[in-house]
Amino acid sequence: MENLEVKILLVDDEEIILTLFKAALQSWGYNVEVASDGQQALQKCSENTFQILITDLNMPNMDGLSLLKRVKDRWPMMEVIVVTGYGTIETAINAMKEGASDFILKPVNFDQVQFTIKKCYQKVLAAHENKELREANAQLRKLNGLKNKFLAITNHEIRTPLTIIKGYLEILSMILESDDQEVNETLEILQRTAGELNETVERMHVLTRANRAMSQVPKKRFDLVASVRSSCENMHGLFKYRAIEFVVDLPQTEIIIEGAVNNIRMIVQELLQNALKFTPDNGKVSIAIAETESEVSIIIEDTGIGIPYEEQALIFTDFYEVQDSINHKTSKAEFMGGGMGIGLSLVKEIVTTMLGRIELDSTPGVGSSFKIYLQKDTTPVPVTAH
Ligand code: ADP
Repeated sequence: MENLEVKILLVDDEEIILTLFKAALQSWGYNVEVASDGQQALQKCSENTFQILITDLNMPNMDGLSLLKRVKDRWPMMEVIVVTGYGTIETAINAMKEGASDFILKPVNFDQVQFTIKKCYQKVLAAHENKELREANAQLRKLNGLKNKFLAITNHEIRTPLTIIKGYLEILSMILESDDQEVNETLEILQRTAGELNETVERMHVLTRANRAMSQVPKKRFDLVASVRSSCENMHGLFKYRAIEFVVDLPQTEIIIEGAVNNIRMIVQELLQNALKFTPDNGKVSIAIAETESEVSIIIEDTGIGIPYEEQALIFTDFYEVQDSINHKTSKAEFMGGGMGIGLSLVKEIVTTMLGRIELDSTPGVGSSFKIYLQKDTTPVPVTAH
């Protein structure tokens, strides 16, 4: 937080009071200027920024109340403290109605004065911090908007040529139909790499779409158990390759939910891929489904490296990775293989739009457990085939 130097303007027509007050305020560490009447005070306020104005109420020409009104009109954020005698306490109350922050009674008790000014000073600091926070927030919202725009544009710019490359590669592989092993291998590598790039672009696309209108994905009723089971199917080989025990423990009965099947597939695959990446060889990953009367949960657990406690809330934000991205391994299956840090934001975005919630329980060095809770659809309507 930027440091704020609070400036006080002291207004009184009696020179002796000005001198006394000024000395006291300076001894308490405040930066003080003085004015001997309302006109001079207004002049000083328009030349300099004061956060606090302390004014006597009873002054010739322009009284303190008129000065207060003019100051509040032009500099509404300025805190004004009025000084008045016991006999004119009603005027002090009027001043409070006109926006004064506080009043000091004459004859002055300097302990009381110090306390009143300190209260006001803290109010000024709090208002300043609030303003800074509001500005920082607005700046963050602007940057977030720019990030989303950048993502959407680059994604679109990459998608189109990539679709063309993939199409022409397919045509090329049909035209070439070669017996030459080198040609076939080269084509295969090109197609596989284009496929991987396509997958990355698709994930980014979902994320940019998610930021805007994920709720517009067409919904239907379907069996969650069957869609989780089919999402696990192509993962067995990867777990076997890493010698990680993969336990799929799903109920035998259907559990109906409403949503997009593809979203469930994406959630399960993102979470299983993370469990695979962050669990060392010979570990264990399991997926299970549990239900209550109204809710169903998908539970994915691993015996992996776990997530540091201070990072657990952050990993659901876009592009956030715990590990240094410089240490990335590009493989998606290898231990600590790199990603883009968008998997969990995708999962969170999807779960939120399905009005569900996600819980993480992770202990560094022991493992992690991700639980996704979704609403069951209990209406007695026929189920659409998935
Ligand atoms: P990425 O696409 O890079 O995998 P994610 O958003 O899916 O990114 O995950 C963000 C980070 O959270 C990962 O880089 C990793 O550090 C951490 N993480 C996610 N899942 C696990 C897990 N099961 N075990 C340990 N760390 C994990």
